Amino acid sequence: MKILSVNAGSSSLKFQLLEMPQEEVITSGLIERIGFADSIFTIKVNGDKTRDVKAIKNHSQAVSIVLDALIDLKIVNSYDEISGVGHRVVHGGEKFNDSVLINKQILNEIERLKDLAPLHNPANLTGIRAFHEILPNVSHAAVFDTAFHQTMTKEAYLYPVPYTWYEKYGIRKYGFHGTSHKYVSERAIELLGKGVKGTKIITVHIGNGGSITAIKDGKSIDTSMGFTPLAGIMMGTRSGDIDPSILPFVMEKENWTINDAIKALNKDSGLKGISQKSSDMRDIVKGVEQKDEKCLRTLHLFAKKVCDYIGSYYILLGGCDAIVFTAGIGENSEPARKAIVDRLGSLGIILDEEANKVMGEEKLISTKDSKIKVYVIPTNEEVVIARDTLRLINQCTE
Ligand code: AMP
Repeated sequence: MKILSVNAGSSSLKFQLLEMPQEEVITSGLIERIGFADSIFTIKVNGDKTRDVKAIKNHSQAVSIVLDALIDLKIVNSYDEISGVGHRVVHGGEKFNDSVLINKQILNEIERLKDLAPLHNPANLTGIRAFHEILPNVSHAAVFDTAFHQTMTKEAYLYPVPYTWYEKYGIRKYGFHGTSHKYVSERAIELLGKGVKGTKIITVHIGNGGSITAIKDGKSIDTSMGFTPLAGIMMGTRSGDIDPSILPFVMEKENWTINDAIKALNKDSGLKGISQKSSDMRDIVKGVEQKDEKCLRTLHLFAKKVCDYIGSYYILLGGCDAIVFTAGIGENSEPARKAIVDRLGSLGIILDEEANKVMGEEKLISTKDSKIKVYVIPTNEEVVIARDTLRLINQCTE
């Protein structure tokens, strides 16, 4: 059964066609710069990558181009071979604690939730509508970034602000990257091999965005992102947690609007803000190798912010069986992982320096004597989207 896994951003469309339940990737690709004269369409089949640059007006046209390519490249003979399309949706609010098949009512709900994710949900919706237009008879599923964290208790998700803010406006911690935390924690539970009950895992998803989750018995009990993905650890260009009083102070000094201030926290902070050089950990690491002071302070601040959460989640979980690194930095950056793990000696964690050289592969990177196992597990959000879509289709036909 062929399932398309889709991630539509405001100017991009990422897709993967998978043979399910074998979870084999048949083809994958990306359209970037939708709405520009030089949009880029990349598609990979059997290891061969094709790249085309041309004007792609909107998401509808992008979806047509993807689906046409599937036929032209003889990946499918007809659209009837596609049994389902799973769509990543960033915000599911309190309404969705699992993925769902999309109907009119669900579309309205996702639309309503755009208040909470004004940049992401409308883009996700555009993707859903564009695919639905061309594939109206296929099952479409929505897979929410927030759903995995809906197991958090009030104690974890409430902010100590007037309770009416929660009642009136839904102001609470939602958490994000749920699909990734779910995937890597399930894999870690398999690797630990003692069943899900009683397991205590801390997942460290560090890419351009980053979040850390405490997972007990396979369920998220706390996570570092909050009401929005701006909260938590220091990220590529996002600040993570700061004292909110900094905002009015800087606004007054710089004569800024609230939008200017929020933009500074989203786009000019994190690795980029502290290093004054780059938001990319590869550049920071290069600078560290050259003993560049700005890059050194950036790497150490980043490691500290990550460890603040790991320490707090160790206490919350009452111990920890495994720490899992994933996403761009977590999967690929030996120096970033080392800078983090080196700060965790008091938990009895010992890094296997040789194993830590791994890039983009699943590996145990702690020694036999380490009190907590440390893994690198590449994330695979596309496969979770395809799995959930398949599960929902099967439930529907049972
Ligand atoms: P993601 O958002 O998961 O795609 O991660 C993207 C980020 O991962 C980039 O901005 C880099 O900071 C980081 N990254 C990717 N590859 C490496 C690498 N080899 N070394 C260090 N950082 C990397």
